[in-house]
Amino acid sequence: MDLVMTGTGSPLPSPDRAGPSQLVQVGARSFLVDCGRGCLMRLAGAASGPAAIEMLLLTHLHSDHVTDVNDLITTRWIGGFPAAPLPVVGPEGTSSFIDDTLTMLGPDIGWRIAHHDDLEAPPDVPVTETAGGIVFEDDEVRIIAAPTDHRPVQPTVAYRIEADGYSVVLAGDTVPCSALDELCADADVYVQTVIRDDLISRVPIARLNDVIDYHSTVVDAAQTATRSGVGTLVLNHCVPAPMPGTEADWIAIAAEHFDGGVLLPADLDRIPVEPSG
Ligand SMILES: [Zn+2]
Ligand SMILES: [Zn+2]
Repeated sequence: MDLVMTGTGSPLPSPDRAGPSQLVQVGARSFLVDCGRGCLMRLAGAASGPAAIEMLLLTHLHSDHVTDVNDLITTRWIGGFPAAPLPVVGPEGTSSFIDDTLTMLGPDIGWRIAHHDDLEAPPDVPVTETAGGIVFEDDEVRIIAAPTDHRPVQPTVAYRIEADGYSVVLAGDTVPCSALDELCADADVYVQTVIRDDLISRVPIARLNDVIDYHSTVVDAAQTATRSGVGTLVLNHCVPAPMPGTEADWIAIAAEHFDGGVLLPADLDRIPVEPSG
């Protein structure tokens, strides 16, 4: 199983970090977690694409995590002969979000059906809403959701994907909470969106400081990793975006509170999900 960082950015636009999304590959199978800005460009960079996605898992409906869902739906649909349905899993509200997205796309869908004789039906996007528990399981892959705490954004969920005896947790935006600790228990890889409260609090902009109270800090993420006994902590969705050359500072802060491996990847980095030794 591999974790491919299809977007390591945050809501703040970056020239080299796409919005938050991660691709989990189990052999030839691909599961996409969140679908932020530039996701399809990064999928192309990862030699993947909309048609390869077996399931889209959304952690929450904050705009930075879903900006390119419409692009995924459209591009998969017009590239299929015909396109397979795109199963989407997410917290409560995901059904109406997808309905609204399809409504927004309505004129485009109509024009394409009118123009292409072999395109007959609109995109098929079945949605499963989850508050937690097993959301997918077959003889190769199991995906478990758990509620997280990103209030006032609610509900929100994290996902644990298990295959080959290994596991990766994609936490999304959340402060530390017991359900996240349980989901992360003994995971090989734990991906956490993080902020640096020490840097943000120096900027006298209230709207920026507001983000501190509903995200994990680097220290929070490291402490969650330690409590849960994970192998490797992956820092993602960093706010503020790390200045080139300062990645080691972020890793050093985490390492003060966590003895395992700590990574701060770039877009398209491929991280093997395996025991860290
Ligand atoms: Zn969020
Ligand atoms: Zn976010």
